[in-house]
Amino acid sequence: GFVPADRIATLGVSEILQIGARAAAMKRAGRPTIILGAGEPDFDTPEHVKAGAAQAMAEGRTKYTALDGTPELKAAIAEKFRRENGVDYPVGAITVAAGAKQILFNALMASLNPGDEVILPTPCWTSYFDIVRIAGGVPVAVPCDGAQGFRLSPGDLAAAITPRSRWVILNSPSNPTGAAYAEADYRPLLDVLLAHPRLWLLVDDMYEHITYDGFRFVTPAALEPRLKDRILTVNGVSKAYAMTGWRIGYAGGPEALIRAMAVVQSQSTSCPSSISQAAALAALTGPQELLAERAESFRRRRDLVVAGLNAIAGIECRVPEGAFYTFASCAGLIGAVTPSGRVIDCDRAFCAWLLEEADVAMVPGAAFGLSPYFRISYATSEAELHEALARITRACATLT
Ligand code: PLP
Repeated sequence: GFVPADRIATLGVSEILQIGARAAAMKRAGRPTIILGAGEPDFDTPEHVKAGAAQAMAEGRTKYTALDGTPELKAAIAEKFRRENGVDYPVGAITVAAGAKQILFNALMASLNPGDEVILPTPCWTSYFDIVRIAGGVPVAVPCDGAQGFRLSPGDLAAAITPRSRWVILNSPSNPTGAAYAEADYRPLLDVLLAHPRLWLLVDDMYEHITYDGFRFVTPAALEPRLKDRILTVNGVSKAYAMTGWRIGYAGGPEALIRAMAVVQSQSTSCPSSISQAAALAALTGPQELLAERAESFRRRRDLVVAGLNAIAGIECRVPEGAFYTFASCAGLIGAVTPSGRVIDCDRAFCAWLLEEADVAMVPGAAFGLSPYFRISYATSEAELHEALARITRACATLT
C-alpha cells in the first residue's frame, strides 16, 4: 500500500476545508446549512478585472511568462507598495506566485533547514503550521489570547527566540481573529527584532484593505528601514479584489531571498497563470474605489455578527479591527449539556453540535491553535447572517 513521506505523514487536509466539505455535503443532501466557514469574499471579481483577463486571452498572452511574474505586473506591484505602503521595492525585489500561499511555501522552502524554528503567534492561519512542517521547520506557537487583543507582546516574542529561530510570522489584520497591529503595536516588536539580527520577519498583509473604524494600516517595512533587509512583505489580490480562484499572490523582500524563492518556484509551477497575471495587473492599476465600498459592506456585517454573538449568554466576542472574521469565546458554554444529554466539553464539540443541530458551519478555535473559541467568516449575505445568529441563539438557549 501507499506510505506517505515522513514530511506529510502527520499532516491532514486543512480542518477548515474538511468542515466546508462536510457542510457542503449536508447542503447537497437538502439541509438548510449555512456555511460561515469559508475564507473568501462573497463579492464577484470586478468586471474590469475580468476584462483584463479576456483581453490577454484574445491577444494570445497564453504562454509561459517570466518565472516569477511578468515585468508589467511586477512594475504595478512595485507601484502599489510605493503608493499604498510607502515602501520602495525595486522590481528585482518582487516576486509573484500562484497565491500568497505559494509565496509562503516558496519563502519557507527557500530558507528553512531541518529543525529551524518559526515563531507563530496563535491563533493563526492553520497553513502556517503545516507549510513550516513541510519545509522541514518547527512551528513554535506563542499563545495570544483575547485579553491581549490576540496580538503578540514584545515580552512573549523575546521569550520565544532561540538560536534556531529563523522567522516570526505576523498577520495583520488576522485570520482568524480580525485583530490588527497599529503602528504602536508594531514598534516594540520591531525593537525586539533589531536586537536579534538572525531573526527575520514575514508579514502577511492579505487583509490590508479590509479594516474598519478609521484603523490606520501600516506595514513593518515602512516603519523600520533598518529591518527592511530581513522583512518579507506578503500580499495578494485574493481578498482585496475577490479573486481567490485566480491564484495570484506576491511579495516584496530582500533580493537574495526573492531569487532563492524563484529557484523553488522554477521547479514547481514554472510561472503563475499568464491570464491571471493579466487580471491582477488590471486589479492593481484599475479603479480602487471599490475597496472602500466593500470594506464598508463588511463593516455592517461585522457589527451585526458581533452584536448578535454578544447577546448570547456564555459567548463573548471582541470587536475586530479588520478582515471578515470574528473569533468569539465560548468559554461560558464549556461543560453545558445539550437536550440529548451530550456534554459540550470543548470548542470542537460546540461547533460539531451547532452543525448537526442548527445547520450552521463554523470553525473551532482549536483548528487555529487557541481554545475555547470559534471563528465565523461573515463574508456572506446579511440575511444569512441574521438567520445563522437566530439559530445559534435558539440552540444555545436549550443548553443547561
Ligand atoms: N494569508 C492569510 C492570512 C489567509 O487567510 C489566506 C487565505 O485564506 C492567504 C494568506 C492565502 O491567500 P491566497 O493563497 O489566496 O493568495
